[in-house]
Order: sequence, then structure tokens, then C-alpha cells
Amino acid sequence: MKFTDFNFKPTIQQAIDEAGFKEPSPVQKEAIPLVLEGHDIIAQAQTGTGKTAAFGLPIMNQMKSDGSVEGLVIVPTRELAMQVSDELYRFGKLSGLKTATVYGGTAYGKQIDRIRQASIIVATPGRLQDLLMSGRITIKPQFVVLDEADEMLDMGFLDEIKNIFTFLPSERQTLMFSATMPKAIRRLAEEILKSPKTVSITKSESTNTNITQHYYVVQERERDDALVRLIDYKNPGKCIIFCRMKKEVDRLVSHLTSQGFKVSGLHGDMEQKQREVTIRGFKQGGIDIFVATDVAARGLDVNDVTHVFNYHIPFDSESYVHRIGRTGRAGKTGEAITLVTPSELRTIKRIEKDVGTKMVTQVIPTRLEVQNSKADELIANIAGTEITQSGIDLVKTLQHDLDIVTIAHLLASKLQEKHDIKGKEHIGLGLEEIELLIQRAMQSRGNDRGRGGQRRRRPGGGNRSNRNHRSSRGSSGHRGKRSNKPRQD
Ligand code: ADP
Ligand code: MG
Repeated sequence: MKFTDFNFKPTIQQAIDEAGFKEPSPVQKEAIPLVLEGHDIIAQAQTGTGKTAAFGLPIMNQMKSDGSVEGLVIVPTRELAMQVSDELYRFGKLSGLKTATVYGGTAYGKQIDRIRQASIIVATPGRLQDLLMSGRITIKPQFVVLDEADEMLDMGFLDEIKNIFTFLPSERQTLMFSATMPKAIRRLAEEILKSPKTVSITKSESTNTNITQHYYVVQERERDDALVRLIDYKNPGKCIIFCRMKKEVDRLVSHLTSQGFKVSGLHGDMEQKQREVTIRGFKQGGIDIFVATDVAARGLDVNDVTHVFNYHIPFDSESYVHRIGRTGRAGKTGEAITLVTPSELRTIKRIEKDVGTKMVTQVIPTRLEVQNSKADELIANIAGTEITQSGIDLVKTLQHDLDIVTIAHLLASKLQEKHDIKGKEHIGLGLEEIELLIQRAMQSRGNDRGRGGQRRRRPGGGNRSNRNHRSSRGSSGHRGKRSNKPRQD
């Protein structure tokens, strides 16, 4: 299927071509025809799957650009408002459709001027409600979109949204988009949508298949080492590390900084200005690693994030979906990595079930493995380097005092300095141990299936196994059975 199959107006089609979009994404394929036919829709699709174009293109195609506000898009955050507005501007500019962005924390005057000239406004709930209730603006949009509806409810905007709808014309087409569909969303949909068509991109399509998902099992105190080892090993371009608390963000930022990484933290109570500066640093590449809380990373859209790390597994499946959706955007591939302790394995299983994907368990590479892989990289790198005049001159100078083999050893050592891998040899649990723990977790969850967890571990697991095994007992109900071994660490 191609975009031309939708028979958009030439100015819209041209904008699509200029944006470089070749083929509609799954949610676009399903939603666009329904919106063009005039239906209300409720659409579920993961972040990064092209929802903005899924609603933006078909509503703009129906606009008259008669100088009135014809479309209203409500989004949870200021950043999203700016992003969505930029994207819509791109699609609409050739059709003479102006956009206005409306959010709190700025002066009213300019915003109101822009709204007067706009065909579409993209607004956050708070400021929009404020403008409507105070009578500063009156709008009659025929198209109303709730984007990232689940995030808006999570952020506590339900009352504002309901109130906003009392100011909107009842003759309208309403489109609701959400990455997840909890009950509260369905209830809201019943209130504001009229015989909506449902667009649900099946789970496997909606969980962006560009994202590979891995998890590693570690002991609580190994999280920092595990994280550093994995960063060393995976060599991410840009990555985001998710924590549960602001406190943890701060701690990790200083820890990673001390390890020589270019890191910055992002949390909910940062000043807007500071937040923007930080995000710009990340986008433009001065910062490689972002450490963030869920709230802080809402709406963060950076296209080339290669890895998302869950330093702690999130509390619920929805957060997991939102977090990992920060990578693998715009057709690129990404990797999501989650650190769990043995007692969190059940959460992994639950998320897998809720989300409908499979996370693959892996073992954290040993120091030697990382060292070797770095050495291979370095060798390939050296072999691919072009010999320069300044290189030749440097060797000539060194040759005054040193023989050529010593020079080579010195230069190689210099290069290796950067690749020194820190930390202990083994971090985290091995595959067999993880297998065993998963079985137990599953057994202790269901009915008592008798003597669960009796499968014997292979002998000779040594130090690591014992240690790992001890803490694996958790709530598995076999307390005491194997606890006779002394703690080894
Ligand atoms: P969502 O709202 O689902 O999170 P966006 O609408 O923000 O996703 O789209 C994510 C990225 O993918 C944007 O950079 C957008 O320009 C790009 N994109 C959207 N649709 C297509 C398409 N059909 N082909 C190529 N890129 C696309
Ligand atoms: Mg979006």
C-alpha cells in the first residue's frame, strides 16, 4: 500500500513526499481511511509508530483553511505539543494550514494572536481549559484529537479534558489515540466518542518489532556494576537509563560521570528552561547518556536512541511500553535492556504476558569477554586507519630513542588505555540459574504443584552459583531447604 492510495489533495501528498514517507505505517493504513470517511476512532498503537500522521494527514485533507480553527489536538506535555505541532506544520504548510501551539508557563497575548490565525491548535489540557473558561478564546473545531490519551490520564488531566469537551461543538469528529487501553481510557472514550471504529494494531505489530528486548538477572547490589559493564559492552550511541526515583537519577548521574561517561539527568521537577537545554544537549550529541524517571521522559522524542536501559524494572506494563518506545523510532532499530533481581522475575513474566512480547534473558559478559571484544574492535579499527604524514613523522621522532617494536608496544598500550574494562570478572546470574529461578517463580505462582523447585542444580556451580542460589529463595516457599550453605561474599 502506498500513500497515493488515499487520494489526498495534491498539496498534502506533496508534503508527504517532501517528508520522505514512502509507505504508511500499520496504524496509518488502518486509521487514515476511517478518518477520511468521517468516523470517530479509538486507536491503540505503540509510540513511534506514526500516530501523528495517522490523524494529521486525514484531518488536514478535509480542512478548508477558511481562517477559523478547524482542528484541535490535545496532548499531555509541552514538548509533545511542540513536536506534534512541528510535524503538523510540515504536512499542512503547502495547503496554507497554520498551526498554533498552546501550553502553560508563557504569556497569553502571543498565544492568542497565533490561535486567531491558526487552522489547527495543539494544546496541553491545563492552558487550553484556562483559555476556554476565561473566555479568552472561543473555538469551534470540527476535528478534535486526543493524542497520548493514556499519558494524559496518568498525569491527572481527566477533569480538565472532560471540562474542555463542554466547550466544544457536539457536531465534530473525535479521534482518540493511546499506546495502552486501560479501563479509564475506555470509559472516557464512551463519553466523548460517537459510535467509534476501533483501530487496534495487534500486539506484535504495535510493540515495535524494531526493538529487541533483553533482560539480565543480577543481585541488588550488582546493579551499578552490571549497568557499567553492559554500557561498555553494548557501546550504545545515545541511550536512556530509566530509574524509579529522582534520588536514584542523581546518584547514577554522579556514578556514571565518575566512570567517564557523558551523562545528564532528567527529572520531573527540573525547570522548563533547564530541561530544554539538557534535552538539546542530548539531541545534539554533547551528552550520550540520559538518566531519567518515567515522568521526566514523557514525550521525549529523540530519533537516534540506540538503547534503553531499565535500571529497575518499571512497576507496570504500561510504563515498560512507554519506556522502551524511546528507542527504535522512525524505522531504526533499538535495544531495550532490563536489570532484574531474582525476586523480580515474576514481574518480567507478567509484563511479557501483558505486552505480548518475549524478552530474552542473557548473561552479562565477563570482563575478559568485553576486553576481547574491545580488542577486536580496536584491531579492526587500526587495520582500517589510513597512514597519515603526521603519523609517519611521529614514528620518526620516536625512533631517535626507541626501537620499532617498543614504539609499537607503547602506541598500542596508549590506545588500549581507553578500553580498560573495570569491575569484577563475573556479574549477575548464569543462564542455568536463571532458568531454575524462572521455573520456581512460575511454580510458586500457580497452585502448589507438589515438590516444585526440586530439580537439582548441576554440581560444581562453585562460588557464584551458591551465592546466586541463596538469594533466589525469596518467596518460593522452599525456605530453609537449601540454606545450609554459608554466604560466600
Ligand atoms: P507516535 O506518535 O506514534 O509516537 P510519531 O507520529 O511521533 O509517532 O512518529 C515517529 C517518527 O516516525 C516521526 O519522526 C515521524 O516523522 C516518522 N514517521 C511517521 N510515519 C512515517 C512513515 N509512514 N514513514 C516514515 N517515517 C514516518
Ligand atoms: Mg505521538
